[in-house]
Amino acid sequence: MSEPLVIVGNGMAAARLVDELSKTSLGRYAVAVIGDEPRLAYNRVLLSSVLAGETASHEIELRPASWWRDRGVTVKYGSLASEIDVGRRELKIAGEESIEFSRLVLATGSTALRLNVPGAELSGVHTFRDTRDVDILLALAARKKPVVVIGGGLLGLEAAYGLAKAGTPVTLLHLMDRLMERQLDAPAAALLKSLVERKGIRVLLNANTARIHGEGRVEGVELVDGRRIEAEAVIFAAGIRPNVALAKEAGLSVNRGIAVDDHLQTSAEGIFALGECAEHRGICYGLVEPAYEQARVLAQHLAGKATSYPGSVVATNLKVSGVGVFSAGDFIGADGSEAIVLSDSRRGTYKKLVIADGKLTGAVLIGETSDALWYLDMIRAKQSVALIRKEMMFGRSLAQPAKAA
Ligand SMILES: Cc1cc2nc3c(=O)[nH]c(=O)nc-3n(C[C@H](O)[C@H](O)[C@H](O)COP(=O)(O)OP(=O)(O)OC[C@H]3O[C@@H](n4cnc5c(N)ncnc54)[C@H](O)[C@@H]3O)c2cc1C
Repeated sequence: MSEPLVIVGNGMAAARLVDELSKTSLGRYAVAVIGDEPRLAYNRVLLSSVLAGETASHEIELRPASWWRDRGVTVKYGSLASEIDVGRRELKIAGEESIEFSRLVLATGSTALRLNVPGAELSGVHTFRDTRDVDILLALAARKKPVVVIGGGLLGLEAAYGLAKAGTPVTLLHLMDRLMERQLDAPAAALLKSLVERKGIRVLLNANTARIHGEGRVEGVELVDGRRIEAEAVIFAAGIRPNVALAKEAGLSVNRGIAVDDHLQTSAEGIFALGECAEHRGICYGLVEPAYEQARVLAQHLAGKATSYPGSVVATNLKVSGVGVFSAGDFIGADGSEAIVLSDSRRGTYKKLVIADGKLTGAVLIGETSDALWYLDMIRAKQSVALIRKEMMFGRSLAQPAKAA
C-alpha cells in the first residue's frame, strides 16, 4: 500500500517536489496537494510579465490538470489547511474532513508584508503576491491614475514597471539610499535607477513612509521628511513574511521560518518544510532556485536515498523593469579581495567581478547578462581563475573560445 504523503501549499516548491518525487519514488506514496489559491500551481515569477501585459494569466500554469492526474496526485485547490494534529498524523482542512498522513510537507510560501503605518488599512492599498493581486493591479493600471509603490527591491521594481508600461504615473519609494541594496553595489544600483527612470518611473530614495492619507480611500503618501506624493493607490512591495502559522500552532520549531535540518525535516519526525516558508541554517530564501534545490534533496530523502541539503549559493538573475540584472556571491568585495570593473553608463552596462584567493567569489552585471550562468558556475566551483583572469571580464566566448563555440 502507498503511504499517504500530504503537501500543504500548491505553489512552485510543491509542484517541483511532485515532479522530483515522480522520478524517484513513483508508487511509494499516495500524494495529495492542498492549496488555498483557487487554481492549479502557476509560475509566480511570471506574475510580473502578466502585469506588464507580456504574458496571459492562463499561460503561467506550471502543469496542466492531466499532468497531476497522470501521476496519481490528488490536488485540492481552494482548500485551506487549518491545523496539523502531529500526534494523530492528521491534517484539518477548513470546511472539510481531516486527512491522514504518514509524511507531511509544508510548502506554504510567504505573505507580502504590509507596513505598519497609519492609513495602511485604507481602500486602495494593495500587495503583489498572487494572481488575485495582479487582477487588482491590472484594473488599477487601466485607470491610469497616479500610484505609489513602496519598496525598491525586485518586487517593487516589477510592480512599478508593469504599471508604468500600462501608462500609469508611478512613483517608487525606497527606504535605502540605493535600489536592490541586497543584490547591487552602489554604481550598479545607480545605473539601474537611471535605466528605470528612463521607463518613466519616478524613483525617490531615502524615502521613509510616515503615513498614507485619505478619507476611506488613498489620496496620497507622506514621508517622514515631510514630502507628500499624491496617489490614488499604494502598492506595498517592501518584503515578505514566511507563512509559519500552521507549523507554529502545531508546536513545531519556528524562528522567522519553519526550522528545518539538512534533510528538510522540521522539529517533528516525518514532517518537512521547503521553499519560502522554511528556514535552513538560519536562512529563509526568497527565491525559486533554492526551493528547487530543496525539492530535489527532499525527494531523494523521501525515496530513502542518502542525501543532504548544504544550503544554496544565492544568485539573482532576472530582468528588472526590462533591464537584465545579475548578482551572486560576495558582490561588494570583502577585505582582501580585488574587483575588476567595466562600466559604460551610456550603453547601460556595468560589470563587476570580485576575486579573492585567485577564485571568483562574486559578480554583478547590469544590462548585458548573457554570461551570468558562466560566472555563477565559476563562483560555485570555487576553482582558480588564474588561466582566464585576463579575458574573463569580456565573457565566455573570449575567455574560453573553444568551449563556448
Ligand atoms: C511578482 C513576483 C515575482 C517574482 N520574481 C522572482 C524572480 O524573478 N526570481 C526568483 O527566484 N523568485 C521570484 N519570486 C519569488 C518566487 O515566486 C518564490 O520564491 C516562489 O514562488 C516560492 O515558492 P513556494 O512554493 O515556497 O511559495 P509559493 O509559490 O508562494 O506557494 C505557496 C502556496 O501555499 C499556499 N498556502 C499557504 N498557506 C496555506 C494553507 N494553510 N493551506 C493551503 N495552502 C496554503 C499559498 O497560497 C501559495 O499558493 C517572485 C515572486 C513574486 C510574487
